[in-house]
Amino acid sequence: MIAEVIVDIAHSDVDKVFDYIADDDISLGFRVEVPFGRYRSEGFVVAVKERSEVDSGKLKKIIKKLDDFPVLSESQLRLAEFIKREYHVPFASALRQFIPSDLRGGRVKEKIISFAVLNGDISPIDMVASLRKGSTAQANAIGYLKGQKREKLALLNEKFGRGAIRSLVEKGFIKTFDEKADRVPYRRLEAYSKNVELSDEQSNAINSVLSADKKISLLFGVTGSGKTEVYLRLIDRYLQEGKTAIMLVPEIALTPQMLGQLRARFKDNVSILHSGLSAGERYDEWVRLRTGEAKIAIGARSAIFAPLENVGIIIIDEEHDGSYVAETSPRYKTIDVAKKRCEICGCKLVLGSATPSIESYSLALSGEYNLARLNRRINGKSLPDFIVADMRDEVRNGNPSIFSYRLRKELKKCLDEGNQAILFLNRRGFSQQVICRDCGYVAKCENCDLSLNYHRDNDILKCHYCNATYKKLSACPECGSINLNYRGTGTQKITSELNQLFPSARILRMDNDTTRNKEGHFKILKSFSDGEADILVGTQMVAKGHDFPSVTLVGILDADMSLYFPDYRCSERTFQLVTQVAGRSGRADKKGTVVLQTYNPDNAVLKFAINYDYEGFFKYENSIRKSTLFPPYSIILRVMIESGSDEEGLAGLKRVYEKLLPVYEKNKEKFIFFNKMKSPVKILKNKFRYQVLMRLTSDGEEIKDRIYDLALSEKTNKVLVYVEENPGNLN
Ligand code: ADP
Ligand code: ZN
Ligand code: ZN
Repeated sequence: MIAEVIVDIAHSDVDKVFDYIADDDISLGFRVEVPFGRYRSEGFVVAVKERSEVDSGKLKKIIKKLDDFPVLSESQLRLAEFIKREYHVPFASALRQFIPSDLRGGRVKEKIISFAVLNGDISPIDMVASLRKGSTAQANAIGYLKGQKREKLALLNEKFGRGAIRSLVEKGFIKTFDEKADRVPYRRLEAYSKNVELSDEQSNAINSVLSADKKISLLFGVTGSGKTEVYLRLIDRYLQEGKTAIMLVPEIALTPQMLGQLRARFKDNVSILHSGLSAGERYDEWVRLRTGEAKIAIGARSAIFAPLENVGIIIIDEEHDGSYVAETSPRYKTIDVAKKRCEICGCKLVLGSATPSIESYSLALSGEYNLARLNRRINGKSLPDFIVADMRDEVRNGNPSIFSYRLRKELKKCLDEGNQAILFLNRRGFSQQVICRDCGYVAKCENCDLSLNYHRDNDILKCHYCNATYKKLSACPECGSINLNYRGTGTQKITSELNQLFPSARILRMDNDTTRNKEGHFKILKSFSDGEADILVGTQMVAKGHDFPSVTLVGILDADMSLYFPDYRCSERTFQLVTQVAGRSGRADKKGTVVLQTYNPDNAVLKFAINYDYEGFFKYENSIRKSTLFPPYSIILRVMIESGSDEEGLAGLKRVYEKLLPVYEKNKEKFIFFNKMKSPVKILKNKFRYQVLMRLTSDGEEIKDRIYDLALSEKTNKVLVYVEENPGNLN
């Protein structure tokens, strides 16, 4: 038999199928070891056939199978082909998405633990009597085991000596057996779920998803409207039909909360997949899904590749979230992969959000998606009221602090009433810049050309892209002014100011610094939800998803921060963030309040957010996108050219540009923009960066593929070339 093998080398030169002679026990989806050139390589069997076109004398034989089971199914292979095609990556790198990375190179296996028990057929007294004189260790081991059912072999060896245990085994006094160890992530997580009766809105939404002939539904439900319960019921429904389900959440930080609810309902049927788990845990969870022991996969975006068969439903919670777009190769868009997976398996897809992306809502309005709505909060209360604090007034009134007068007043009230508050810092990119107040100079990294961040703990400036550190500036290097503004230190500075304002308040901080280790998020969120703190201060991580019943106040400290980002999505992002974080307030029996601090109280986007006017915002933003021709009314393509040498980079840019120029000239009507330039961030991690930036009309889909192929063909060892589509940022 012949196996078609993709060698596990993600390089375009070897990105093709190679035929190998295979034994009969090899079938589609197996990982195998094969001779490849002068070396051996791992590979994936993507098909088997009777005979090969290749001269049989030239065919080599598969050396061995690498696992006892196929790691990929037919439907996963089809999805991998889609990833390869759509994102222009080698097949091998598409296939790698489907397996735990440590499976490659045999770095992870099942963990087997050996146990020992006394042979129950012989009485311990007879055993000891039959021992030779002086065999105290053996006698002690028998005595020890007598009192217990079983013990780990390793521990017995350690306690009584390897020799003693071995001779007991040889005499047949001890029996050993192996057991697979369960590496369960979040073992201590409390599985928790309320038993609730569905609201009418929830039942209607569920029926709408189930009965729609459209495969894709947008579940548009305001914050606190009970979307999770809708997800759980839908999953239950498909499980009862003998199907499986995939549930995606936008961030690792949110998985424990969702996992807890899923486990409470579905027990061991739930398996979690995300990059924060240990290699062993990840492997075990993956195996449980692959073998069908677990039927529900939950995780961040990569869980879309879960090794499940017979999928009935895929749910993507907070579908608008930027984290669903992969920023490293393959640069996949989770929603598009999910759509393809649905098409292959014939399952349903539910996209849930309180603030759907412009693209998704357009598709719902145009009838491409079924639209299911939850218009009211479960608690029957209206959404929290906004109080707008105009920060220009604060400065005028001599209040230089981060906290407006209104926010302080509301905080005091909230704490006096024994409730909890969340303070949100809209920190993206430049909120920690050092700016000269006189000339506008901004301190930047020499390797990366990006603004440096000030770190209060060790009083240094640091580049978050390459980790280079610099001394704090005492005067502006451009104009000599000492009027430098260290714009906030982010959460740290807020926490220390809060401590002074409210000395008795218990404050928790959640940001990248405090959530380094695996269960960092989980611990902070649990501690806050257990009422061990009064105020939670954090960045984007506190904005999403959480359900804390005692939170009655949310403070948005710098609502403007994301409004002026050089990104066509910045209005959308700001609207989403403000709505999401406001939605954390007043979710249970008490009404919530939001204090929004801004220097731009008249900004249209903020006004829509304050009035909970999604439709208004959508119309406004959609018409801007339409008239300025930005996605979804166009396709932005950016070909990145990066090199350690500026010359090579520039030469690479020229080559790519010249390759693409004829395409542009022949199809001018499909281009809104076409030009080559330095990237806004000219150097990153010591790599010089150039780009060809393009905007295609929305019917430019077919020339898109051509652009990919032409551009990627200019990749060399010294010049990295890759293409981004509608990128999340244009750094
Ligand atoms: P969303 O995701 O829409 O913001 P959640 O799913 O977190 O909202 O639900 C908000 C709160 O309402 C949760 O505490 C949830 O347990 C509760 N809840 C949901 N559905 C019901 C229901 N039918 N009856 C009572 N409480 C509910
Ligand atoms: Zn200056
Ligand atoms: Zn740097």
